Amino acid sequence: MSWSIHSKQLDITGLLNEESLFFTGNGYVGVRGNFEEGAPKGAGTIRGTYLNAFHDITDIAYGEKLFGFPETQQKLVNIIDAQTVRLYFGEGKEKEAFSLFDGEVLEYDRYLHMDRGVSERVIRWRSPMGKEVRVSFKRMASFIHPELFLQEITIEPISFFGKAELVAVTEGDVSNFTDPNDPRVGSGHAKLLAVSGSSIDNGVAGVEVIASRSRLKAACAVVCELSVQHSRKDVEHTKAIESTFVFELDGKAVFLKKNVYTDTLRHGNSPLRKGFELAEQLRSCSFAEAEQKQKEYLNDFWRFADVEIKGDEKLQEGIRFNLYHLLQSAGRDRYSNIAAKGLSGEGYEGHYFWDTEIYMIPVFLMTNPELAKKLLLYRYSILDAARARAKEMGHRQGALFPWRTISGPECSSYYPAGTAQYHISADIAYSYIQYYLVTKDIGFLKECGAEVLIETARLWIDTGHYHNGQFKIDAVTGPDEYTCIVNNNYYTNVMARYNLRWAVKAVAILAAEAPQVMKELEERLGLEPEETEKWIKASEAMYLPYDEELNINPQDDTFLQKAVWDFEQTPNDHYPLLLHYHPLTLYRYQVCKQADTVLAHFLLEDEQDASVIKSSYDYYEKVTTHDSSLSSCVFSIMAAKTGNMEKAYDYFIETSRLDLDNTHGNTKDGLHMANMGGTWMAIVHGFAGLRVKESGLSFAPAIPQQWEGYQFSIQYEGRHVEVMIDSSSARFSLISGPELVFHIYGNPYTLGEPGLEVPLIR
Ligand code: BGC
Repeated sequence: MSWSIHSKQLDITGLLNEESLFFTGNGYVGVRGNFEEGAPKGAGTIRGTYLNAFHDITDIAYGEKLFGFPETQQKLVNIIDAQTVRLYFGEGKEKEAFSLFDGEVLEYDRYLHMDRGVSERVIRWRSPMGKEVRVSFKRMASFIHPELFLQEITIEPISFFGKAELVAVTEGDVSNFTDPNDPRVGSGHAKLLAVSGSSIDNGVAGVEVIASRSRLKAACAVVCELSVQHSRKDVEHTKAIESTFVFELDGKAVFLKKNVYTDTLRHGNSPLRKGFELAEQLRSCSFAEAEQKQKEYLNDFWRFADVEIKGDEKLQEGIRFNLYHLLQSAGRDRYSNIAAKGLSGEGYEGHYFWDTEIYMIPVFLMTNPELAKKLLLYRYSILDAARARAKEMGHRQGALFPWRTISGPECSSYYPAGTAQYHISADIAYSYIQYYLVTKDIGFLKECGAEVLIETARLWIDTGHYHNGQFKIDAVTGPDEYTCIVNNNYYTNVMARYNLRWAVKAVAILAAEAPQVMKELEERLGLEPEETEKWIKASEAMYLPYDEELNINPQDDTFLQKAVWDFEQTPNDHYPLLLHYHPLTLYRYQVCKQADTVLAHFLLEDEQDASVIKSSYDYYEKVTTHDSSLSSCVFSIMAAKTGNMEKAYDYFIETSRLDLDNTHGNTKDGLHMANMGGTWMAIVHGFAGLRVKESGLSFAPAIPQQWEGYQFSIQYEGRHVEVMIDSSSARFSLISGPELVFHIYGNPYTLGEPGLEVPLIR
């Protein structure tokens, strides 16, 4: 079964996409899959290296700026480029630069090895003058040493033996990519960095840059080694360091470049000095050694995360690819999270959204709960900023998490589809609750979970109001961004209700299990006993829109009054609609960009009868464009739940290869991380029907008829459970941990050492 993505096509028009697809990252550093030797003239390229959360600040220009609009925005910065290595063969008039777009490419293979965390290009090349060589480029962002990005270049003579030159560049003069015509990409502010220092010391070359407004600094310290006899010259330019190696190519020559990235967020005020220190420590580490450790790390990851699909190689490739890139993008410290495009590109300016909590944490929660916890800790680290934002938005209490941010402040300038998405606070709360349900980690609840639930519950009390005895929440936007600023968005209200209920439960759990901690929390947060009463009352009185005639939950108070969008008359090339219609045009119709009520029915399925869930699915499917990549996976899960496996399968296909096949047309700007998590969710929550609730774990296994079988693992309360489903039965094995009592198709079972096999119900 495939563990590599393989590209054999050297297609100049596809290079931009491949830069995203073959990016190399480890949660801290992310390097796009650019060519070491540079892009050919005329080819588009987004040459990028990013450090998770390393950002600058830019002004937001408004025509009419009203109270509370964010004045500035944070932006992920493209930092020091250490990718560049130019190769030359021959001397004098015979000297030729290696380029895939001059001469002849006789063989070309590009790989992303997902089992060993390395990407590779292997090329047999004949120069315009006929010099034939084989060059292979390997690169890796180490999962063990987050600061380390390694490149190994192997050069072998085929017909050419003679003088060769290699120039390794560490470039501080870099810019961000902009596109003024696409709201999903930054429109201005390309130049954000200045070089603040550089030096060469004991064979280590380092460049330091400073971001113009955030004043954050980043550095790259580089150690190079060449396996054959050579002369070396280092030249310090104003903004770059070039190290030139001249050697005789008469056999295999291996060049190793170790690039050590540091920044002020994690490494103190002198990242360059720290970079030099780390580079010294890593001096003896070989590529092979790093690769071995990388493989061990990935073995551990795949042991829990791998999903095997029997009988469909393409989809198998898709799911592994998606999981691998999620791992490469997930921040592991309190400064960072997973950006909408991960570390693969600059789309959405490196901002973190609700995408993490609803679409990505679920994957880690069930396969790598430690990593899920780290992502949640990031949210806790911006809780004060969320409290401040709630105040700024006129709330007397509570925490309003920013719709998009890097280090905490709200960065969305278009508030109808930004700040107004208050649901993000309930989504974060939901994620904390799920974490508790899967791990029963009381320590985490004490440390930060309860506080997040309390502060978000307070927000709902302050935002909502009573009307005819019902608790209502006005003027918010749900997940569907084609319907903005509405009263009583079903998704928001039902998620807020869950948030309120769980704030009450968290307080009760802590009062029982850790009374001293609860007492301290009450004092610190000024929590009054009557507050929990208010939460209970509001949750009980929460208004959830319901339409008797259609037997569905209307998306909001006015959704069903609007005319249905004229899909028949909408030309195919007018999708995504957001690039062709003014927002107000869209707001006036029943048309959804993405799953909204349908998503609520997945996250909180016990809030409605199966018949309401089914009719709602049928209703919303007809008016949803899936212009957002966050949609298809949810429709896949809910098609499976409502018994339509054909549809579930079709939607699943859309999610699994969305980036590999560039079906949304913007993979060049970065990979669609939420969708990548959604692929796993569509299999595990969709086909296998996994749910985690207060009542425990449950499954409702099914299989698309196109598959022979599939299997995956989960971690649950310290257990490792393996699930294998084929066309006739579902087999559960307890790999480690204590016996598990759980439900399959609503019936209770106990899973012990002998395992368990249950026939599929069709
Ligand atoms: C979606 C949002 C999402 C954002 C970032 C938008 O297109 O509508 O739900 O959070 O992309 O992925």
